[in-house]
Amino acid sequence: MSLIERLTDEFARLPGIGRKTALRLTYHVLRTPPQEAHRLADAIIAASERVHACSVCGSYTEASPCSLCSSPRRDRSIICVVEEGSDIAPIENTGEFRGLYHVLGGRLSPLDGIGPAELNIESLLARVREAEPVREVLLATNPSVEGEATALYLHRLIAPLGIRVTRIARGLPVGGDLEYADGVTIAEALQFRREL
Ligand SMILES: [Zn+2]
Repeated sequence: MSLIERLTDEFARLPGIGRKTALRLTYHVLRTPPQEAHRLADAIIAASERVHACSVCGSYTEASPCSLCSSPRRDRSIICVVEEGSDIAPIENTGEFRGLYHVLGGRLSPLDGIGPAELNIESLLARVREAEPVREVLLATNPSVEGEATALYLHRLIAPLGIRVTRIARGLPVGGDLEYADGVTIAEALQFRREL
């Protein structure tokens, strides 16, 4: 395999990158000075080696616990449960939520072999039961079929513990992705959350 093919193959493995885009990225790298390629490669390696899951909430961080979990300014009585760490930034950007987060690392999807054991559910239950003075768990899994099923599953586990369980409101399009929703829609979904 030639070096051009090798690099193109690596780009094509990335999510959302088709063969054509991969080839375009390869030629972009070939045209740029070597120090720029080094900067890109170094950033990838440094992030991959030094960023890891927060021991409390499971989001990606260089420090553990992460800055959100260790902040004295956050409301520790409410935990917002999201599928992926990338869902936190759009919620934070709304300025509507001051609580803590918990990252599941995916959603229940039996067809893909993802059951409760594959998600960070045990650690969520441990936080709810022991570690924090939690009064409410806000389920902000995506409004897809799997996201709803995951929310219902968590509701059944958490509600019997005497904790308020809420779900973000439906302003978000069904089948949509929190990561791509606009700030106003997310802010409204947080404000008008409902009891589960
Ligand atoms: Zn954390």
